[in-house]
Amino acid sequence: MGTNLIYLDHSAATPMLPEVWEAMRPYGLEKAGNPASSHQAGRQARKALEDAREKLAHLLDAQPEEMLFTSGATESNNIAVFGLAGDPPGVVVSSAIEHPSVLEALQALKPRGFELRLLPVRSTGEVEAAAGYCEGASLMSVMLANHETGVVQPVREMAERLGTGVAVHCDAAAAVGKMRVSFRELGVTSLTVSAHKFHGPKGVGALLVRRQAKLRPLFHGGHQQHGKRPGTEAVPLAVGMAKALELAVAGLETDARHVRELRARFLQLLRAGAAPVVVNGSEERALPNIVNVSFPGCRADALLMALDLAGVACSTGSACSSGSLLPSPVLRAMGTAAENLGSAMRFSFSRLVKIEDVEEAARRIIFNVNTLRHTSC
Ligand code: PMP
Repeated sequence: MGTNLIYLDHSAATPMLPEVWEAMRPYGLEKAGNPASSHQAGRQARKALEDAREKLAHLLDAQPEEMLFTSGATESNNIAVFGLAGDPPGVVVSSAIEHPSVLEALQALKPRGFELRLLPVRSTGEVEAAAGYCEGASLMSVMLANHETGVVQPVREMAERLGTGVAVHCDAAAAVGKMRVSFRELGVTSLTVSAHKFHGPKGVGALLVRRQAKLRPLFHGGHQQHGKRPGTEAVPLAVGMAKALELAVAGLETDARHVRELRARFLQLLRAGAAPVVVNGSEERALPNIVNVSFPGCRADALLMALDLAGVACSTGSACSSGSLLPSPVLRAMGTAAENLGSAMRFSFSRLVKIEDVEEAARRIIFNVNTLRHTSC
């Protein structure tokens, strides 16, 4: 990153840690066999892949046989939605605050005869396990932590209430590496992971799937990963993801304490210099690495551009939708007031952000918010 750029968009992507890069290196350069080959080079790659699978499964409290390597959370969510929705078409349940890779996959089931029901969302950002919504459902998909507000969802309670017979998918892309995640304890059928959210490489993720689950593969034409996700596995990326999760889990508490301090200082400065400042989503229920704030009277798209020029990287929502001028569907589902909806920004931190960074970023934000409030309204 440039010297003057303050990167506060760690929910969109995190830089890789040097240890992650170093762990991957040999599998891209010297030990570059295909893990399906039976010769020595292939066996070497296979060993690295299976070690990574074992390590990741262990860190997520799952069995290695339950771990499928994918190209990231978008693919994992698509495999889960299309693979677990069931046959014949029935009812699928989710919430309006899910990532588009879940919601749009679910929407795509509708022309195939499925009914999609969306659970209500509280103003705190929590999904409500409303009675009756799941009647007759074959699949429910609820994320573990929201990517825009950081609000942690009651997935375990929801899965418990449903009992067996309904597949439960959980998109944990925003949560893994930020909070303790146990596949076993959550009681879900499948769970999505994405490495670039916790200082791993981009383009690799995982889908944990229970052994008993009937998963229809999305891709065809290979025997890899028991045909559930065929295609040559990305060995260097898998090794990098395992290293990154190992480091994230080891530093979980230290990192949480650090980003909580950053968040508190950041909000303190913003409240003092750019009031009114509204925090979107429950502060108590949210992961400490994300802060979603509105600056009423200041348009988010204008502020995003001004901050980019001022050297502060942040977002108006998820990276995938920040190119659109439409207000965030997540905040809309929470019933956010119009003036807060149009001025909402997401700032997200990681262990790589220093207290001086958030102090300097806050100074630049305060200046730009106040300038825009005076010029645009
Ligand atoms: N789900 C959530 C909650 C996310 O935050 C993201 C990334 N914005 C995705 C899915 C998609 O992840 P990927 O970039 O790995 O496809």
